[in-house]
Amino acid sequence: MDDADTNCKTHPDAPHGFMRDASHSAGRYVCECESWEPPKNKPMTRDEWMAWLEKAWAEAQGGSCRINLFK
Ligand SMILES: [Zn+2]
Repeated sequence: MDDADTNCKTHPDAPHGFMRDASHSAGRYVCECESWEPPKNKPMTRDEWMAWLEKAWAEAQGGSCRINLFK
């Protein structure tokens, strides 16, 4: 018994499941995880950065001035 015919990803968050259509066209068992990409461990996106900045700003202002940053 070997599982050389599956290409399961080993990422802990990878979803596993039978992909019927893909398996039919590939002629083998195709697992859901094969087309799944792990979330990238990239630096904060611009939106995340803005949210962080907004939060830090609000905290610095005693939580009262969220809006002023964008004026
Ligand atoms: Zn899998």
